[in-house]
Amino acid sequence: DVLNTRGNTFEDFYLKRELLMGIFEAGFEKPSPIQEEAIPIAIAGRDVLARAKNGTGKTAAFVVPTLEKVKPKVNKIQALIMVPTRELALQTSQVVRTLGKHCGISCMVTTGGTNLRDDILRLNEPVHILVGTPGRVLDLASRKVADLSECPLFVMDEADKMLSRDFKAIIEQILTFLPPVHQSLLFSATFPLTVKEFMVKHLHKPYEINLMDELTLKGITQYYAFVEERQKLHCLNTLFSKLQINQAIIFCNSTNRVELLAKKITDLGYSCYYSHARMKQSERNKVFHEFRQGKVRTLVCSDLLTRGIDIQAVNVVINFDFPKTAETYLHRIGRSGRFGHLGLAINLINWNDRFNLYKIEQELGTEIAAIPAQIDKSLY
Ligand code: ADP
Ligand code: MG
Repeated sequence: DVLNTRGNTFEDFYLKRELLMGIFEAGFEKPSPIQEEAIPIAIAGRDVLARAKNGTGKTAAFVVPTLEKVKPKVNKIQALIMVPTRELALQTSQVVRTLGKHCGISCMVTTGGTNLRDDILRLNEPVHILVGTPGRVLDLASRKVADLSECPLFVMDEADKMLSRDFKAIIEQILTFLPPVHQSLLFSATFPLTVKEFMVKHLHKPYEINLMDELTLKGITQYYAFVEERQKLHCLNTLFSKLQINQAIIFCNSTNRVELLAKKITDLGYSCYYSHARMKQSERNKVFHEFRQGKVRTLVCSDLLTRGIDIQAVNVVINFDFPKTAETYLHRIGRSGRFGHLGLAINLINWNDRFNLYKIEQELGTEIAAIPAQIDKSLY
């Protein structure tokens, strides 16, 4: 099982007391396997390239060594944590703040869609850890507002996404502002060729951790339902009435469809939130925050939320529109199986999706079965 560890405890890492307190107060009793592997190696100063499935605690695996290494008395940016989306930046900084509560370390989040001048002002105050998305970080570094010249630690979460076409060049540019010798920690659920190339070019004798040989969709029961496009809403309504949903995320393939579906769900008498890339950042944050707090049961969204977002209360994911790639599929339904929780994934499949369904099943080596009349509650 991916959650079986070698029996180490957080005490075994000889962390500073303040950090250990933060970890225990966060309710972490013992390290997850990826944490057990990555934390000591990262503290020892090695570059790390780590791969582990969604929901296995990768965030703390890089946040703990980061907090351990940062010296609160040195008034410099000592760690740069890069993530692909604004939501993930906020979530990651939250983990930094929670675990580092007693460390006297200041963490700043910087992302697009917010006022640049505010960030510039904020950087007049001490910042030890900078968590951000590529565009804004590059902006601040180029303007010499964020001084990365003595930043010894570079962390990249969702590294595959960070090195995909949109971001790769920006990351390369950001790296020119860091000292030539620095430590890198790269985390991801998938490692495509771009990551390998980056590793060869920028990492020094990286310690590679791969905890992906487990079934990646373990714990998640997956079904498909053949539905014509115009029957989808009716089908969704039936699912709502039959399933025991704790919280559900419903995915559509376009922003228009997200809004439309959210409206229809509301019309059916269910409360729901929606979120997509064309919404204002402040709105997206609010929606995300309130959904996490459990204010509503359903969230309709596009793929912007699929990476690394962790909401434990979600036990059902519905692909209202079936995704195009196996990778997107994995990231979407990974939601419900996080940290060993069970989950249910239901895919509404129209005639055109059927080849994709078989392809994704094959690529992921998983089974997506036809939806039965009754779904056993113990499965999710
Ligand atoms: P990943 O990045 O690998 O997808 P996250 O870092 O988002 O996973 O963690 C998933 C969930 O597991 C979070 O809710 C986190 O608080 C919880 N978690 C992480 N590490 C531990 C731990 N050692 N003990 C208990 N819960 C943990
Ligand atoms: Mg993550």
